[in-house]
Amino acid sequence: MSTVMIVGAGPTGLTLACELAVRGVSFRIVDSAEGPFAGSRAKGVQPRTLEVFDRLGIVDEIVSSGLVGLPYRQHTADGGFLDVPRPVPAQRPDVPWPAPVLIPQWRTEAVLRGRLEALGGRVEYGTALVDAEVTNDAVRAKLEHAGGTDEVELAWLVGCDGGRSTVRRIVKLGFLGETHEDMRMLVGDLHVEGVDRAHWHVWRPEGGGFLAMAPLAGTEAFQLQIAIGPKSPDSPTLENFQQLVERYTGRSDIRLSRPDWTSLWRANVRMVDRYRAGRVFVAGDAAHVHTPAGGQGMNTGIQDAFNLGWKLAAVQRGADSALLDSYEAERLPVARHVLELSTRLAATTLSSKTQGLIARTEDTSQLGISYRESPLAHELRSAPGSLRAGDRAPDVPGLVDREGRSLRLFDVFRGPQATLLAFGEGWGPVLDVGLAAAAGVHAVRVLSPGIAVPEDGGTPTLVDSLNHASTIWEPGTGALFAVRPDGVIGFADDRRDPVALVTWLRVAGLAR
Ligand SMILES: Cc1cc2nc3c(=O)[nH]c(=O)nc-3n(C[C@H](O)[C@H](O)[C@H](O)COP(=O)(O)OP(=O)(O)OC[C@H]3O[C@@H](n4cnc5c(N)ncnc54)[C@H](O)[C@@H]3O)c2cc1C
Repeated sequence: MSTVMIVGAGPTGLTLACELAVRGVSFRIVDSAEGPFAGSRAKGVQPRTLEVFDRLGIVDEIVSSGLVGLPYRQHTADGGFLDVPRPVPAQRPDVPWPAPVLIPQWRTEAVLRGRLEALGGRVEYGTALVDAEVTNDAVRAKLEHAGGTDEVELAWLVGCDGGRSTVRRIVKLGFLGETHEDMRMLVGDLHVEGVDRAHWHVWRPEGGGFLAMAPLAGTEAFQLQIAIGPKSPDSPTLENFQQLVERYTGRSDIRLSRPDWTSLWRANVRMVDRYRAGRVFVAGDAAHVHTPAGGQGMNTGIQDAFNLGWKLAAVQRGADSALLDSYEAERLPVARHVLELSTRLAATTLSSKTQGLIARTEDTSQLGISYRESPLAHELRSAPGSLRAGDRAPDVPGLVDREGRSLRLFDVFRGPQATLLAFGEGWGPVLDVGLAAAAGVHAVRVLSPGIAVPEDGGTPTLVDSLNHASTIWEPGTGALFAVRPDGVIGFADDRRDPVALVTWLRVAGLAR
C-alpha cells in the first residue's frame, strides 16, 4: 500500500512527489490528463522558487533553459516604441538568484519530472481520482482509468489537482472569493513573424486592454496574452488571435501561425478556508487561484508542496501528526497575501502605460515570506536582530572548510535534511545532545576568521572568510539556528540550552 496519493502532476504535485521520493516515502502520483501539459502558462520562476529548485538539485537546468532580464518594448499608437529596460539586479551575498527566470511552464514541469524519474518516481497519466472516503484511520480513493476503476487505501491524500479540484469538492472545503467576468484574456503559444525575440512586446490601445508577446526560451514560439472586452469574440482560435493582434497593434505585418496551445482565461480570485480536512490536504491552484499578474500562482503552489513534503515524511517516520497543522498555519496567510498582491498588480497592469505584466519587487520574489507566527518558529534570544526564527534562511558565500574549499551556505543546506548552524564557540555539548536525539539533521559550525578551528574532528567547521555570515545572520557573540528542510529558520537561541533545542526538534518532528 502506498502511503500518500498525490492527485495532479502539475508543478505542485511534481514538487511534492520529489520531496517524498527523496525521503523514501511511498506514494502514487496520478493525473487525469493523457500526458504532460503542453502550454507555457506560468512563465516566471521567482527567486524563492529557484532556491527550492537548488535544494532539489535542478536549479542549473532551469536557469540555463530560461531567460533573465528580458527588456520590455512598449509600442505606441504612432508606430514608435519606448524601451523599458529591466536590468538584472546584482547578485547579493544572501540571494544567489535575485531575478525571476522566464521559462515556459511545460519545461519547468519537464525538469521536475526528470528529477522525479531520477529519484525512481513516475506519473500515472490517464488516471483520475473520482471519489474518496475519508475516515480517522485512512483514505479510500476511487480511481478511474482506461482499464476500469480501482479502489486504493492510503494514509494521506493531497489534492494538487488545480483550480477545479475534485479533492477540494470531495472534502467540502470552501473556495471563497470572486469571479470577475469583465477580466478575460486569450492566452496562447504561437509563432509570430514581424517582431524581434529580444524584447517582451506590449501594446496598450487607446480604448483599453493590452496585448503582450513574450518570446519563450528554447522554442520558436511567443506567449501571447490579450486582454479582451466583454463583447469581444472569446474563442481562442488562430483567426481570433490574428484579428485582435491587428486591431491592438494597428499593423498587418505581424503574422501568427502554428498555435501550440491556446486558452481563454477568466479572472477567478478565490482561496480555500482550510488547507486540511483530516487526512486530506490541498495545495497549489486547488487551494488558491488569482490573476497571473506578478507571476505568483505556480510559485505559490511549489512553495506549498515544499512546505508540506518534509512534514508528511516526518509524520510517516512517527512524528506527532499535529505537525501537519502547521502547514495550514503557515501557508493560508501566504495565499491570502498573494491574492491581495496579484489583484493589486492586475489593476496596475490594466491602468499603467509603462508597467509590464510581471512586476519585479521584493514582494513578488517571495523572498520575504516568513512564518514568524508559526508554532514551529521558536525565537528564544532576548535581543534578536532583523533575522528571526520563521524567516527564510539566507545564503552566505565564502565559507572555507578544513580542506580549504570555499562553500556557500546553500551548499550545506542542499538535500533533504535539516541543519543546525552554530555560530561561535561553546556549542559542542548542545549539538551533541541535539544530534543524538534527531533524525535527518546535520550540524555545521561557523567561526570568524582568526578563531582556532577545534581539532575534535566532530562537527564540520567553516570559516566565515569574507565576514558575510556575521553580517547577514547577526549571531552576535554566538547563536544556534536550526534550519528546517524547507530552508526556513525554525529555531534561534543564544543560551547554549540543549533542552530548548530538543524541544524544538520534537515539535518540528525531527526528534522523538
Ligand atoms: C491561462 C493561464 C495563464 C497563467 N499564467 C500564469 C503566470 O503568468 N504566472 C503564474 O505564476 N501563474 C500563471 N498561471 C497559473 C499557473 O499556471 C498555475 O498556478 C499552476 O499551473 C498551478 O499548478 P498546480 O500544479 O497547482 O495545478 P495545475 O497546473 O492546474 O495542475 C493540476 C493537475 O491536476 C490534474 N487533475 C485535475 N483533476 C484531476 C483528477 N480528478 N484526478 C487526477 N488528476 C487531476 C490536471 O490534469 C493537472 O495536470 C496561469 C494559468 C492559466 C490557466
